[in-house]
Amino acid sequence: MAPVGDNVVVSKMKLEKMLSMKGGKGEASYVNNSQAQAQHARSMLHLLRETLDGVKLNSPEVPFVVADLGCSCGSNTIYMIDVIIKHMTKRYEAIGYEQLPEFSVFFSDLPSNDFNTLFQLLPPYGGGSMEECLASNSHRSYFAAGVPGSFYRRLFPAKSINVFYSAFSLHWLSQVPDIVLDKRSTAYNKGRIFIHGANESTANAYKMQFQSDLAGFLRSRSKEMKRGGSMFLVCLGRTSLDPTDQGGAGLLFGTHFQDAWDDLVQEGLITSEKRDNFNIPVFAPSLYDFKEVVEADGSFIINKLDVFRGGSPLVVNQPDDEAEIGRALANSCRSISGVLVDAHIGDQLSEELFYRVEHRASSQAKELLEQLQFFHIVASLSLA
Ligand code: SAH
Repeated sequence: MAPVGDNVVVSKMKLEKMLSMKGGKGEASYVNNSQAQAQHARSMLHLLRETLDGVKLNSPEVPFVVADLGCSCGSNTIYMIDVIIKHMTKRYEAIGYEQLPEFSVFFSDLPSNDFNTLFQLLPPYGGGSMEECLASNSHRSYFAAGVPGSFYRRLFPAKSINVFYSAFSLHWLSQVPDIVLDKRSTAYNKGRIFIHGANESTANAYKMQFQSDLAGFLRSRSKEMKRGGSMFLVCLGRTSLDPTDQGGAGLLFGTHFQDAWDDLVQEGLITSEKRDNFNIPVFAPSLYDFKEVVEADGSFIINKLDVFRGGSPLVVNQPDDEAEIGRALANSCRSISGVLVDAHIGDQLSEELFYRVEHRASSQAKELLEQLQFFHIVASLSLA
C-alpha cells in the first residue's frame, strides 16, 4: 500500500508500483465507471477488424497469441478479447482450416491492477472447436494469463505475440517528469495539477516524457511481435497542436478537479505546495506527437493513424439531472485518478476533494454534458 497522506513524489518506480484504476466493484470503481470507454471502443470495432484482417495466419498447430496491454480490471477487456478471438476464428474458418489454433491471451497491466476482479469476471474455459468458439458467450475459447509489468518495458519473450491490443492506456506516462516537481525549474507546475493551461516548459516536459515512453513501448513490442503480427492502439488524443490545450482530458482534470484542489488549499486543508506536488501523469498527444515517435523508431509501418471523436466520458441515465451528472463526473475522475489522490493526501481528504468535484460539476452540469468530449488517437501498426 502507498503511504497514506504522505507527500508522495511520483517518481518512475513509485508510479509503476502504485498506479491502477480503482479496483473492486464499488460506486467509484473502474468496473462501474468505464461504460464510456466501452462505447468508444465499440465505435472503433471496424478499425480493429481491419487490423486483424492484416494479421498473417500461421499453421493451426502453433498457438495464436494475443496480448491486451493496460487491460485494467473491467469487463471491457473481456469483451474486446472476445471480438478478437471470434474474428480470428472466422478468418481461419474462411480459408478452409478444419482445425483452429489454440488461442492464448495475456491480460497485462501494472502490478497493482486489480487482477482478482478481472479473473473473477472471466468466463470459464469451454473448449476450442470452431462451433464452440463462435456460438458461446458464456465460455471462453482461449487460455488466459495475467502479466504484471509496465508496457514501457519488455513483458514477453521475443517473437511470441501475434496481436497486441491496447485501449485508453498509452496516455498514462511512466512518471511525472522530475523537472515538473522541481521548484527551481521553469517547468515547475505551480498552482496546477495538470498541464492543461500550464506554461510551455511544463507542457514540453510532459511531451518529452510521452515521446520517450512511447519510444520504449515500440522498442519492446518490436522485439516481442511475431512476423506478420499487428498492433491496434487507442489512446486519448487532442486535436490542438498546443500541448497546453489537452482537449477532453483538459476539461476532465483541468477545471472542476483543479478547482476542487484549490478549494482544499483555500480552506486550509492542504498547503499550496502539497497541491503543486500533485500532477496527473497523463498526456493526450496530437497525431503529430504520436507519428513523430513511430517514424523515429522505425520498427513499425503505419497502416492507419488517425484522430477520432470518441464522445463524452459521462454516461448518465437522466441528462437533466444535475446531481447525477455531478456524481458521474466525480466518479469518473475518481475511478481513474482516485488511487493517486488517496496516496497523495490520504483517504479522508480525498473524500473531501471528490465531494467538491461533484458539487462543482453539478452546478455546471449542462455545460459539462455539452463540452466534455474525448478525442482518441487510433493506430494500426505492423512490423516494418
Ligand atoms: N483497456 C481498458 C482499461 C483502460 S484504463 C479499457 O479499455 O477499459 C488504463 C489502464 O492502463 C489502467 O489499468 C492502468 O493501470 C494501465 N496502465 C497505465 N500505465 C501503464 C503502464 N506503464 N504499463 C501497463 N499498464 C499501464
